[in-house]
Amino acid sequence: MKAVVKANRASGLELVKMPEPKLGPKDVLIKVQVASICGTDVHIDDWTYWAQQRFTPPRIIGHEFAGYVQEVGKEVTFVKAGERVSAETHISCGYCYQCKNGYREVCRKSKLLGIDYDGTFAEYLSLPEHVLWKDDPRIPDEWATIQEPFGNAVDTVMSEDISSKTVLILGAGPIGLFAVGIARACGASLIIVSDPNDYRLDIGKKMGADIVANPKNTDILNCVLEATEGNGVDVVLEFSGNKLALDQGLKSLTPGGRISILGIYETPVDIDLNREVIFKKIRIYGITGRKIFSTWYKTSRFLSSGLVDPGPVITHTFLLEDYEKGMQLMRDGMCGKVVLQVMP
Ligand code: NAD
Ligand code: ZN
Repeated sequence: MKAVVKANRASGLELVKMPEPKLGPKDVLIKVQVASICGTDVHIDDWTYWAQQRFTPPRIIGHEFAGYVQEVGKEVTFVKAGERVSAETHISCGYCYQCKNGYREVCRKSKLLGIDYDGTFAEYLSLPEHVLWKDDPRIPDEWATIQEPFGNAVDTVMSEDISSKTVLILGAGPIGLFAVGIARACGASLIIVSDPNDYRLDIGKKMGADIVANPKNTDILNCVLEATEGNGVDVVLEFSGNKLALDQGLKSLTPGGRISILGIYETPVDIDLNREVIFKKIRIYGITGRKIFSTWYKTSRFLSSGLVDPGPVITHTFLLEDYEKGMQLMRDGMCGKVVLQVMP
């Protein structure tokens, strides 16, 4: 089979022929239909500091996908051949303290698809049945593959009730853009989106933002205060991983509000806890992955019911062979989500 592989501890990827994966008794062989590119894949391609610490070549990369069950191991009961599936990419152990307490997303022995397991940028993929999600037949392939990052946005938006609230979204990458649609669907009364990338701000408007602002030419705090009668927003959703944006978010948050943070920072962040957190009595939520599997139900319902149309965020589709074109668009920020057609 063809597969996109990180072969060596150096920048770059290779499209190579690989043997099809083997199946254990509880594993499922999936024929990948579509996959999509995440920022993590670009980090692995570019061999950034993070990738050097976390990734061991050789490994097939990629973790977002939708595909068809081809064959099942002897003990598999959840799916059968021909069903379309995607997967939770945190492959949890099921036995640790976190898993047993309903926090599989922070399993202490968690393995990640496309990092610790061979990934989805390949014709075939083998996964344990317990991580599979049956795709709703109403959801097209290009939407099914984005359920994983969409779920990140669902948990960030919905860490508390957001109906009628005023919201500032920092970072209009694919996940921040999904969050715009989700916040709208959940009844937010005002959505302000900040990003230094005008191409992405335009998609933000299509996803339902009321105000889009570029921090390169707009004072974000002033913009928020003007739009909220001087109060600040009830909710801040941080998807940029940028310290300046986080600082703007904390200052823009009304006392008593909440901030949910998905963005990942390159280095530790200083926060004036007394001023920005304690005396403002705000609530901070760290978000990682998705709630397994309750978030998948929410995601599937948002997409299958038409409550959220992710169409404007899915800006490019390429053949798997052309993965590097997608990677380059991601580096340049001239895209939303890039989908790879594995089976044309
Ligand atoms: P992305 O890199 O495509 O998007 C980040 C966006 O932030 C970009 O559009 C960028 O222009 C914007 N940005 C940069 N500086 C900014 C500033 N000062 N103000 C406002 N916006 C600014 O990433 P993504 O795939 O959409 O993911 C969003 C974030 O979530 C990333 O930091 C990613 O690493 C992180 N992430 C976390 C988890 C988790 O489990 N916690 C999972 C997936 C992604
Ligand atoms: Zn566990």
